[in-house]
Amino acid sequence: MIRISLDHLIVVYLAIVLGVLFCVWVAAELFQNRRERRRRRDFVICGICDHIFEDRSEKHLLNCPRCGALTERSKVREI
Ligand SMILES: [Zn+2]
Repeated sequence: MIRISLDHLIVVYLAIVLGVLFCVWVAAELFQNRRERRRRRDFVICGICDHIFEDRSEKHLLNCPRCGALTERSKVREI
């Protein structure tokens, strides 16, 4: 049997709880970054009418749903 004092038991318990919280935090940050990157990739701004639309396909050239002009997919930058 392992003998451990109450002080050490509390320290080990807190270390485990903090480790789990850190892992959850890192996983949430990674998930949020991936979702944000995908959202930026899927939104396309028409160069003719400035209409913003969402397209989940992998095509590089898209037809604008408002004016019908061919639009090149490019990254949407945050302001
Ligand atoms: Zn357009």
